[in-house]
Amino acid sequence: MIVASYVMIVLNTGFWHRLVNLFEGQPLVWGCFAAGTWTLTLLLLELFGPGPLQKPVAALLILVAAVAHYYESAFGVLIDDEMVRNVFETTVAESRHLITADALLRIGLTGVLPAALVFWPRIARRPLWHQVWRWPVGIAVTASLTVAFVLTDYKAYSAALREHHDLMGSYQPGATLNAVLRFAKAQIPTVAIEAKPYGTDAQPGPLLEAAEKPVLLVLFVGETVRAQNFGLNGYDRNTTPELARRPVIAFTDVTACGTSTAVSVPCMFSPLNSEEYEHEAFLGSENLLDVLGHAGFDVKWWDNNTGDQKVAERTGWQTIDPTLDQAACAQGECTDAVFLPLIRQQAAEITRNTVLVLHMIGSHGPAYYLRYPPEAAAYLPDCRTASFSDCSNEQIVNTYDNTIRETDRVLSGALDILSEADGVTPAMLYLSDHGESLGENGLYLHAAPSFMAPEQQTKVPMVMWLSQGFESALGLDGTCMAGLAGRPASHDNLFHTVLGLLDVETEVRSDPLDLTAGCRPVEGA
Ligand SMILES: [Zn+2]
Repeated sequence: MIVASYVMIVLNTGFWHRLVNLFEGQPLVWGCFAAGTWTLTLLLLELFGPGPLQKPVAALLILVAAVAHYYESAFGVLIDDEMVRNVFETTVAESRHLITADALLRIGLTGVLPAALVFWPRIARRPLWHQVWRWPVGIAVTASLTVAFVLTDYKAYSAALREHHDLMGSYQPGATLNAVLRFAKAQIPTVAIEAKPYGTDAQPGPLLEAAEKPVLLVLFVGETVRAQNFGLNGYDRNTTPELARRPVIAFTDVTACGTSTAVSVPCMFSPLNSEEYEHEAFLGSENLLDVLGHAGFDVKWWDNNTGDQKVAERTGWQTIDPTLDQAACAQGECTDAVFLPLIRQQAAEITRNTVLVLHMIGSHGPAYYLRYPPEAAAYLPDCRTASFSDCSNEQIVNTYDNTIRETDRVLSGALDILSEADGVTPAMLYLSDHGESLGENGLYLHAAPSFMAPEQQTKVPMVMWLSQGFESALGLDGTCMAGLAGRPASHDNLFHTVLGLLDVETEVRSDPLDLTAGCRPVEGA
């Protein structure tokens, strides 16, 4: 009971805040719900901690709640199964920025210390048979109490739970345990999932077939760049001065499939649209890269982020080599400028139609300051730590905007290299995976569950560049494309637009989702 009370009072401030707001002025209503949640915590302790397991389980639940509570109160993030997936699919380099001195201190005081104290009192154990009947009785009693409290006003509670998923989503340790269980459940069948062939009929269309030089599409998969802070999308700060000077097409109303890399990246390459997207279904089918392979493209994926997210499972991928540009990797992690020598090298070497996927580190937080060289900071003061509590909001936004300036420099540098590459027919497409919260409504970072994801996390920039050689070889009208750039688009368009752009013919390409469809001359005309 002491452990349950501690967890409820100290490690559930987000939950209390939401509960009291939701039932404002109805103390009896929220009081009974709170009592029901307290007995639920007791139920968890009973359920997982019979007999000798009692102390370790209590300690573990305190730790889980303390870690989740810290990240919720520091960044406004709620732990759900996608967040758990992120934790498992994130590289060590990336996650160490979340482990700051502030995090260690607060988790130590609210988690590790109380968890250790649990082992202090000596408990005289009853004989085994006594414990055997006490366990189910304890579960039955706490479960009945929980149900009873909820039944005091079931109508109000059921509506609230349906409407406000974030209420129980912020209840610790329940929400985190639930997320871990759901994630684990989702892992079991995936081991055996094999990707079914898809779009195996893909072949070069007549224009691609007739292209004199090999076609090279550089596809930048951006990271955490949100549309609101992208200069080309009308941000009042010109964060994209270099791109603005070049003949690019900026799509200004693009919606991401998810709010995290682990969802958005597979989803954008998947033939599934955002509504039907599920991780298992994604694993069960080939994706855009495979279809390009069927059409005879050489598909290469270089990664400066957390890996291919299983998108390039069959076409292959590799981590970017830091020795390509030692200056870009001087801070220990490479900025995306490391891609530029690679693009130069590829543009000079390729002899076949090629799609080069470059997975950027972009604006990945919270260590935004590592994404650009310190001397390139355009907006000062910036925040040169991953601990947001040490910086003002102005500094955080400055730092974030500096990362977009770096993306701007890298994309423009790529365009300059490609414009001068005379052995290929080049084009470039840039698409960010999801946005970022920078303190709006108390939220930071990303990965908000879709039901509560704010626009800052879901609206992303997309930029296209077609060389003149590409336009004439592939029969595309860039001026027409630019005229349509304001129409609503989403990650769902990537699959079909890349196939359309490259004149890949296949049954699985859908013209309504191909953004280039309205801007190519009608065949045979
Ligand atoms: Zn991401």
